[in-house]
Amino acid sequence: MTRRLSGGPLLVATHNKGKLEEIADLLRPYGIATVGAADRGLPEPEETGTRFVENARIKAHAAAQATGLPALSDDSGIEIEALDGAPGVYTADWAETETGRDFVHAMTMTHEKLRASGAPEPWTARFCCTLVVAWPDGHDEVFPGQMPGRVVWPMRGDQGHGYDPIFVPDGYDVTFGEMDRWEKNRISHRADAFAKFIAGCVA
Ligand code: IMP
Repeated sequence: MTRRLSGGPLLVATHNKGKLEEIADLLRPYGIATVGAADRGLPEPEETGTRFVENARIKAHAAAQATGLPALSDDSGIEIEALDGAPGVYTADWAETETGRDFVHAMTMTHEKLRASGAPEPWTARFCCTLVVAWPDGHDEVFPGQMPGRVVWPMRGDQGHGYDPIFVPDGYDVTFGEMDRWEKNRISHRADAFAKFIAGCVA
């Protein structure tokens, strides 16, 4: 039996303002108030896990312990079959450069690795998003979401963020980068995980 959220505010364990607003909007209709990690002055814990669920658990439990509130976190990325699941939990790390995050650099590197692997197209892949809700007593609930598709080259589209311009979701010919934002948010790995979270803990 999934534990449900009761009453009080939910701590959203992210320092990303965009993510916080998106989650707050999603939960408002259910009468759930949210508070961000930065608002409570929480440090960003080191993400030392090798799987999405491990990193999401680290963030959610740290925030629940520090605040005494139930805490929600997510961890996401893209897994590419021909690269044995890379970049996976290191998706954001592949964008790191000396001058900050650069996703054109990350996508170019991804393509170079695929070429070097000799793997034939289609380069099947999936975007993953794992949500974790942790309570101060140590209990947690896990909701994994995914969107299968393929990596394409060259980059196409200027919508969205991250690796969107090189990912074509199954059932479509356009990349996430070319897709209407509303449509992407309806079918994405994040939408999948959130639907499960709402059904399990909220609705
Ligand atoms: P996180 O915020 O630590 O979970 O890092 C996830 C990384 O995965 C982000 O930096 C993005 O590059 C990438 N990512 C996750 N979801 C998407 C998506 O919907 N489109 C494009 N890139 C994504």
